[in-house]
Amino acid sequence: MKQEKEFGFDTRMVHAGHIPDSQTGSRAVPIYQTSSFVFFDADHAAELFDLKQYGHIYSRISNPTVSVFEERMASLEGATGAVATTTGMSAQLTVFMTLLEPGDEVVSSAHLYGGTLVQFTHTLKRMGVSVTFVDPTDIGAWERAITPRTKALYGELIGNPRGSIMDLEKIGVLAAQHCIPLIIDNTMATPYLCRPMGFGASIVVYSATKFIGGHGNSLGGVVLDSGKFDYSRFPAIAEPSPKYHNLRFYDTFGHYGFLMKLRVETVRDTGCCLSPMNAFLLIQGLETLSLRMERHVENALKIATFLEEHPKVAWVAYAGLPSHPQHDLANKYMPKGPGAVFSFGLKDKAGEDVRLSGKRFIENLKLFSHLANIGDVRSLVIHPASTTHQQLTDEELKACGVGPELIRLSIGIENVEDLLWDLEQAFHAL
Ligand SMILES: *Cc1c(COP(=O)(O)O)cnc(C)c1O
Repeated sequence: MKQEKEFGFDTRMVHAGHIPDSQTGSRAVPIYQTSSFVFFDADHAAELFDLKQYGHIYSRISNPTVSVFEERMASLEGATGAVATTTGMSAQLTVFMTLLEPGDEVVSSAHLYGGTLVQFTHTLKRMGVSVTFVDPTDIGAWERAITPRTKALYGELIGNPRGSIMDLEKIGVLAAQHCIPLIIDNTMATPYLCRPMGFGASIVVYSATKFIGGHGNSLGGVVLDSGKFDYSRFPAIAEPSPKYHNLRFYDTFGHYGFLMKLRVETVRDTGCCLSPMNAFLLIQGLETLSLRMERHVENALKIATFLEEHPKVAWVAYAGLPSHPQHDLANKYMPKGPGAVFSFGLKDKAGEDVRLSGKRFIENLKLFSHLANIGDVRSLVIHPASTTHQQLTDEELKACGVGPELIRLSIGIENVEDLLWDLEQAFHAL
């Protein structure tokens, strides 16, 4: 079908990447729960294996249900393509495994998801890649950290857990000046609130486990490429690959070269492919993304405002509040609102252990679930210093802005009055 009209975000959210099944007419995306796909004949098989023809071989490399999720994400992001993975952690790791050689360096924001910090500090190190962490809001620090061996800039648009906002455009310019890709983890914002490729990002990664799926029922990740970055300086993508008779991915597939290599080498070799069932559940989530995000953001702003005025609260770090140091940047990059995950600090009262107060507060909440996740339709709460960021040393904790008084909330889509009631009664119990 030739498409004459450029469809809007909400239309693409429910249609992109899928037409009704030609054999059965199935309107919903079928779950192709199969490991392999029958070849038409021996020549077809040979061509598929040699990457001379597109088509499905084995679900570790591609699968029709997973392809719908990938194409839908690429459409929503305005990317040239996407590769789905088991989780957000594998999405970012496959990017580095595809892009980097031992000896390469990465400059990264220090305000990262705890698991990412550990992956960067320890796992990448064992791959021979060193990561320099910088304060994401300090452009000079990014610039000073870049060396001739720097092969990527990395950051979370909305940093964890203080909600710092990266100045995408400025860091994008820096990346372009040094011919290195800017990689953005956009998990907190989703393509509905911000599309970082419009501000200079070359690669965007997601933990689809969070707002993309949105219902806290499936893990997933996705890597997207703008298709605009020149990878000719990256030997892993530009040089002949011994795994495919010296195929040059960048020469052969052009703007799709990076993702081809990531799919048919990195994901194939590591087996971190998304399962058809999880792809189906993530597609279900995507179909209501904009509706959910609007409610998430609306509730988050009301709750952040309530907390900021509360006598038992020391501070609130939500970029949607005028008091946040990057409120203007948040408005620039996310005019619909800077997501629904933020943290606040309990007031440290003389004679009371703020750690204990934090614990008691969380234990008294009735609607908020105490667990390690974000981006669920249900409201969630956690105390990072004793959970997600527990593996970090005191120094590392300080560098990423996590104090013992910090409580992180992920605001759901419930009636906001009920969430406010829940918070108030938990404060009362302190
Ligand atoms: C959860 C999360 C990840 C890791 O994703 P998983 O799907 O849990 O592997 C990475 N980055 C951010 C910002 C996250 O919130």
